[in-house]
Amino acid sequence: MIPYGRQNISAEDIAAVTAVLQSDCLTQGPQVPLFERNICQMTTAQYAVAANSATSVLHLACLALGVGAGDYVWTSPITFVASANCALYCCGEIDFVDVDRHTGNMCPKALECKLKQAKAQNCLPKVLIPVHMAGHSCDMRAIWQLAQDYGVRVIEDASHGVGGSYLGSKIGACEYSDITIFSFHPVKIITTAEGGVATTNDPALAESMALLRSHGITKTAEKLLRPDEGDWYYEQHELGFNYRMTELQAALGNSQIKRLDSFVEQRNKLVMTYVAELTKLNVTSVVPLENSYSAYHLMIVLLPESLDRKVVFDAMRAANIFVHVHYFPVHLQPYYLNKGFAEHDFPEAEYFYQHCLTLPLFPDLTEQEQAYIIDTLTGLLS
Ligand SMILES: *Cc1c(COP(=O)(O)O)cnc(C)c1O
Repeated sequence: MIPYGRQNISAEDIAAVTAVLQSDCLTQGPQVPLFERNICQMTTAQYAVAANSATSVLHLACLALGVGAGDYVWTSPITFVASANCALYCCGEIDFVDVDRHTGNMCPKALECKLKQAKAQNCLPKVLIPVHMAGHSCDMRAIWQLAQDYGVRVIEDASHGVGGSYLGSKIGACEYSDITIFSFHPVKIITTAEGGVATTNDPALAESMALLRSHGITKTAEKLLRPDEGDWYYEQHELGFNYRMTELQAALGNSQIKRLDSFVEQRNKLVMTYVAELTKLNVTSVVPLENSYSAYHLMIVLLPESLDRKVVFDAMRAANIFVHVHYFPVHLQPYYLNKGFAEHDFPEAEYFYQHCLTLPLFPDLTEQEQAYIIDTLTGLLS
């Protein structure tokens, strides 16, 4: 079976993790701060806070931006459920903004329309979470402008976008957002097995996320109510969590990030072949905006309306090609249907879902495997 995504683990990665296992610190040592500095260097953001998953950093980011009971968070229905769940962890409310049917990314026009309505009804959201589907940046200049106009904070869910750029700035630079989050799940661009990071240029947000990541506990002398208590002493100032990344995970990340550019280049190279071949088949490849460079987490195509996606999907799986579908719209998940969402609420997202198909894409996908995938798809469509 050719998977749709797969991590690349080198001998150097293994040596880096092994070295940590043989060291004194399996957690709370030097690797996590080093990983955070590497993320800052890669993105040009001033601060990075690493945690045990992107789901955790989404939660931390919402808390740092003050999401609480009754506050609305808006995200995209075409995403992994974590982008929506984080609002509910904070006792906030969730709503969705429809996407552009060609990209699966949040549509600025739909956003403007919804913001206007919300303002008239006095229920503007506190936080907006656009998701860079497949690694392709949303139209962040338009989204950020609207967010500024309406006083809404922005978290970019760039789980798919590590290593990409938009209008000349790195994704994660937070040029058009308050906070950006990345995921390092093995299927993503680089991996720490499980892990995530938030980047920001706001020192108060970084401090808040770092505090909440580790129980809300601080040892920083200037912060302490009782600074003279002794060196053993720490204080809990907030109700935080244990969302820490381990040293093993960070060591893997520090080793992986050295190959980030080559991973992204290889993904883009494979995509060029896919796009060239698929255009001949009346299959539309989902591609990034102009002036942006996608990390290409996913190779998503939109099948012609005349075709039954399930038939194509099943035939590809039967041919040992592990195609996938990203994503079943979040508002149609049973949990969200129970909250009052319904079919036809976000028609463009539902259209995208009905026609999309994810083809295998990862740095080690061979030319032969890719040719087999294209040939199989060609056979099914002709
Ligand atoms: C993978 C993913 C997440 C969650 O990442 P974890 O690190 O697995 O918690 C969130 N949002 C999107 C869009 C993702 O693809």
